[in-house]
Amino acid sequence: MNKGKLIVFSAPSGSGKTTIVRHLLKQEELGLEFSISATSRAPRGEEVDGKDYYFLSFEDFKQKIKNDEFLEWEEVYRDNFYGTLKSEVERIWAKGKHVIFDIDVSGGLRIKRKFPEDTLAIFVKPPSIDELKIRLKKRKTESEDKINMRVSKASAELATAPLFDKIVINKDLDVALEEAYNLVSNFIKE
Ligand code: 5GP
Repeated sequence: MNKGKLIVFSAPSGSGKTTIVRHLLKQEELGLEFSISATSRAPRGEEVDGKDYYFLSFEDFKQKIKNDEFLEWEEVYRDNFYGTLKSEVERIWAKGKHVIFDIDVSGGLRIKRKFPEDTLAIFVKPPSIDELKIRLKKRKTESEDKINMRVSKASAELATAPLFDKIVINKDLDVALEEAYNLVSNFIKE
C-alpha cells in the first residue's frame, strides 16, 4: 500500500485546534482526510456516526482493544474511551490521502512514536491559561465544573509541548492558520 503522511494536531481544549484542522481540510491541494476516531461516549447534539466519530458501545470498544485493532487509545475523561482504529488510517492511505488527526496529547505522541518519520506532530498553544479560561467560558458549551476540569488538565498538557515537532501559538487566528498551513504544506512535500 502507498503510505501517506500523518499530521497530528494536539492541544488543550479551547486552544483552537479544531478550527485549524477544519481550515486545513478545506485546502484541497493538501490532500488531507480527517481521521474519524472511535469513542465509547454518547453522541452529542448533531453528531453523526461515521462522520464525527464511530460511536461504539463500551463492550465493543473493549473488544476492539483486545483484538489489537487500535493504533492508540486513551481514557481521555473518566469512563470515556477514545481511539484511532488501524483500519481508519488504512482506509485514508488507500485513497492516496494524508491523514490529519484532532486527538489528545498522549494519543498524538503515541502516533508520533509509532511512525516517527511519517508523522508531523503539531502542538497548538493558547497564549496563556487565563486566555484559555476566557475562551472556554465564551464558548458556553461546558459547565463551570467542566471548564475547571479542562483548565487543570491543560496545565499538564502544556508541559508536553516541547515533545512535539512544532508548536503553533494561537494568539491571532489568521496568523496561526497561515503558520499551520505552511508547516503541513512543507512536510507533505518532503
Ligand atoms: P470530545 O468528547 O470533546 O469530542 O473529545 C474529547 C477529547 O478526546 C479531545 O481532547 C479530543 O482531542 C480527544 N480525542 C478524540 N479522538 C481521539 C482519539 O482517537 N484518540 C485520543 N487519544 N484522543 C482523542
